[in-house]
Amino acid sequence: MSTEALFDINVTNVAYIVAAVLFIVGLKRLGSPATARSGNRLSAIGMLVAVLATVVGNDLASWEWILGGVIVGSGIGAYSARKVQMTAMPQLVALFNGFGGAASAVVATAELVRLIDRGDGIAEDVSITIMASVIVGGVTFTGSFIAFGKLQGLVTSRPVLLPVRNVINVALLIGMIASTVWLIVDPSITPFLIAGAIALALGVLVVIPIGGADMPVIIALLNSYSGIAGAATGFVLHNDVLIIAGSLVGASGLILTRIMTKAMNRSLANVMLGGFGVEDGAAAAGGDDDRPVRSIQAEDAATMLGYAQSVIFVPGYGLAVAQAQHQVRELADLLKARGISVRYAIHPVAGRMPGHMNVLLAEASVPYDELKDLDEINGEFQRTDVAVVIGANDVTNPAARTDTSSPIYGMPILNVDQAQSVIMMKRSMSSGFAGVQNELFFLDKTQMLFGDAKASVEKIIAEVKDL
Ligand code: NDP
Repeated sequence: MSTEALFDINVTNVAYIVAAVLFIVGLKRLGSPATARSGNRLSAIGMLVAVLATVVGNDLASWEWILGGVIVGSGIGAYSARKVQMTAMPQLVALFNGFGGAASAVVATAELVRLIDRGDGIAEDVSITIMASVIVGGVTFTGSFIAFGKLQGLVTSRPVLLPVRNVINVALLIGMIASTVWLIVDPSITPFLIAGAIALALGVLVVIPIGGADMPVIIALLNSYSGIAGAATGFVLHNDVLIIAGSLVGASGLILTRIMTKAMNRSLANVMLGGFGVEDGAAAAGGDDDRPVRSIQAEDAATMLGYAQSVIFVPGYGLAVAQAQHQVRELADLLKARGISVRYAIHPVAGRMPGHMNVLLAEASVPYDELKDLDEINGEFQRTDVAVVIGANDVTNPAARTDTSSPIYGMPILNVDQAQSVIMMKRSMSSGFAGVQNELFFLDKTQMLFGDAKASVEKIIAEVKDL
């Protein structure tokens, strides 16, 4: 090997190591809201380094196409990320995962076609990794699009349970294994196409039995799959940085899936079997309960808050729907100016996607040190004068501790019921995501403030200013 060639390989490898370090440091920084933005930027720079090193280091003939792809792809990515409503973020992630899986499958296909054309036979390990790439990529592609369709209302969000689905799934699995063996024995395009078609069908069949409300968990899982498909493609192409990036995505997607299912106190199998939650929480349970509740007006809520010593805000999905984060921050600022201690209690699955509340509150420039995790804040409620629940429901339901028949039994909840008094902001008596009544509404210490959260907080702000 010439010195020049050796130098090229070394420069590429060093660039790959730099990219890998940037990915890892970026991921680490995503762990805290204070450093998440810079973590995201570092990872993006890592990806740019990896792409440039691959293009330059491989002496590609048509690098103009790749550059064009990078520019167009980055443009579409930046535009859609800026335009998307925060509540539609899971759909966007589903689409990106789907395209990631498809990209891996397409690259593996091109490599197979190239190897078949060369006519030197294909090594067993290469056949297996090509199949892994196309199978996992194919499942990710169609599965993600069904997930997107369910969240977007294009596909029914109810679980679709085919009568003999287990038999079909097992038959498809056997078909996939058989076609992989066929490709190893006889490297040709036919077994590959069969496996690809089966993978596409399996993606649909695995996701349609799952209820729309469970889609965020499935999207985290499909995110992991897209990483695994990418890593498999890395093995096909002998590209180290693709293996590293794919493995990081695969592992972090799995960890996220685990965190979400644990915080909901469900097993992954329970999510995959489907049927949990209702299409629209507002339609469920709550309406039938005729037990009395106490309701107050913004004026009374302002008096309770303005003369408290300590307040904990408990945001939930309704905060995202109402887009009340800026008003909540303004109210918090007013209370702090009156010498009142203000904190925010963040439940790991509040809202509809991981980190939903952190992102919303960060957007409103709420100081990070005021955001407290479940473990950190739960001991504080009993020393708190007023807990203000803003569009949160399931994550505050005390039935999760005691009612073994409740679908949320065992889910760790925020101890809002231990505060001296509770203000519950929501529009009606409707239930939340899990479709169960919240016992917190009926406690003597709870005051319901009915109405859209943004409008309610705006009224409280006006009243606090007049105190
Ligand atoms: P919930 O879904 O339990 O409750 C949200 C409440 O917000 C509803 O009861 C609704 O009541 C109220 N609301 C809706 N719109 C408004 C509005 N404009 N103004 C005021 N209130 C409003 O939300 P939580 O955040 O408490 O719990 C999250 C749930 O989602 C958990 O069950 C969790 O397991 C699940 N989940 C979370 C995921 C995540 O990653 N975070 C992923 C998948 C599921 P009303 O209609 O009366 O206004």
